[in-house]
Amino acid sequence: MGRNGCTHGGVSRRDFLHLTCGCALAVATFGEAFANSDPIRVTQAMGGSMGAKVRATFLGHSIFRIDTPGGKTIYIDPWVGNPKAPANAKQVDKADLILVTHGHADHLGETVEIAKKTNARVLTMPELSTYLGNQGVPAANLIRMNLGGTATAIPGTPIRVTMVRADHSSTVFYTDPQTKVVSMTTVGGAVGYILHLENGLRIYHAGDTALYGDMELFGKRYKPDVAMLPIGDHFTMGPEDAAEAARMWGVKTAIPMHYATFPVLTGTVEAFKQALSPQITLKAPAPGDTVEF
Ligand SMILES: [Zn+2]
Ligand SMILES: [Zn+2]
Repeated sequence: MGRNGCTHGGVSRRDFLHLTCGCALAVATFGEAFANSDPIRVTQAMGGSMGAKVRATFLGHSIFRIDTPGGKTIYIDPWVGNPKAPANAKQVDKADLILVTHGHADHLGETVEIAKKTNARVLTMPELSTYLGNQGVPAANLIRMNLGGTATAIPGTPIRVTMVRADHSSTVFYTDPQTKVVSMTTVGGAVGYILHLENGLRIYHAGDTALYGDMELFGKRYKPDVAMLPIGDHFTMGPEDAAEAARMWGVKTAIPMHYATFPVLTGTVEAFKQALSPQITLKAPAPGDTVEF
């Protein structure tokens, strides 16, 4: 157990990747009844510093730190020890909210350590919430959600989070340090999130997912401005499916993630760019770089 590789018993990060992201899991979808209304957009009048920008900093793999116009800091899938992370990524002094898309170690990452250190609220599926509670994250800081829900994520702000489907699996592996026997726990489904921020911006973070047809429905329903999409292939969509996902979600800007961390993640930004609709702006920050909206 520790910061430098094994947060779940004796399984190394690399072993985790071999053990985890392999199978797709279809989870529930929203009903058609939701397709034509749009009551969720957070208006500028609801809060935040007018004119301030959203800053999205890529920290390698699928990790983003979002600094909001109202001064809040949100981490998504904080595997800050990933091989591509900038040197200062592990230095997390402030976090108001952590979103975890699923239990695989390359997404759960250092959630427990960061949550304990910063007192951040952690939003995820109920099953993974229970696991995090057992690991010592205070119950009062756990936001238990499920698919289709939208929750106020940081009290006193208009920031909200919608949990949407991802076609993927969600498991935590544990190796008994004495016997070396590997056991596993399924921790709910894998999900994606739509962040509704103070300035009205909506960011969709897909987590790990395959392409699926309801992205078109969700795009009409939630109208995100930005999509953070896995392009690495093998465990998730590759570049061409990710480009199709960006089209289906109807976003203005697409940001690739979950590529090049390991050799098996072969999808490239160049292939994504080739496949992406010319109406969609590609932003591909290097680890440590920030994109403003
Ligand atoms: Zn995964
Ligand atoms: Zn992954």
